[in-house]
Amino acid sequence: MRELRNDERDDLPVLQQLRSRADRDGANRRHPVSAALPTDPAVGLGQIQAADPAFDLELFKRQAADTFLGVKQAVEARDLTPVLDLLSDRVFDEVSQDVASLVARDAVQHFDGLVPTRITVAAADRGSLGDAITLRIQAVALSYLGSAEVGGRTLGGPGAFTEFWTFSRPAGATSPAEMRLECPTCGAPIDVDTGRICHYCRTLLPPPQAQTGWVVAAIQPAQENPG
Ligand SMILES: [Zn+2]
Repeated sequence: MRELRNDERDDLPVLQQLRSRADRDGANRRHPVSAALPTDPAVGLGQIQAADPAFDLELFKRQAADTFLGVKQAVEARDLTPVLDLLSDRVFDEVSQDVASLVARDAVQHFDGLVPTRITVAAADRGSLGDAITLRIQAVALSYLGSAEVGGRTLGGPGAFTEFWTFSRPAGATSPAEMRLECPTCGAPIDVDTGRICHYCRTLLPPPQAQTGWVVAAIQPAQENPG
């Protein structure tokens, strides 16, 4: 019993310290204490939803899957122009370096039969600088390096891999009520069946999900991926 009381006495100042620290942080509205602690993504999603009632998580995941596929296809094609509007400057620089290194080695990164198999929310945060949602994207592909000249050799069969993709948008951004359906350059209507080049002025149109304001802010391979 004596030992227990000593333990309790030892814990008390620590608890008081923690509590007063939380109070100080809580008073600082720029950095609410909740943002600094790992929380259930449902909390952040709820805050995003409350401020942006048009936000639709299932639509967001579908658009994220399109972005994921678009970026992988752009890497395979070694041309990031089609996904320029979907990437933050930092991620664009990182992926550009990957592509430059492929070009330097005369190599092509293939992702044959790439398909996302499961997308879940790993983290969601609404902060003073904007919103961020990290998705855990599980996918399957026959991925291999080939040369630009010949098709390349495959080693083994299709493999599963997982990546964490963080999407962010600036503070105050909300989901568009409806997608714009005209060319941003000349105003001609976009024919969704004919691809992404404007019939009239030949502008390369941004991918539809670029209108949502979310960009890829980080891409992290999961640790469980095979080396
Ligand atoms: Zn046009």
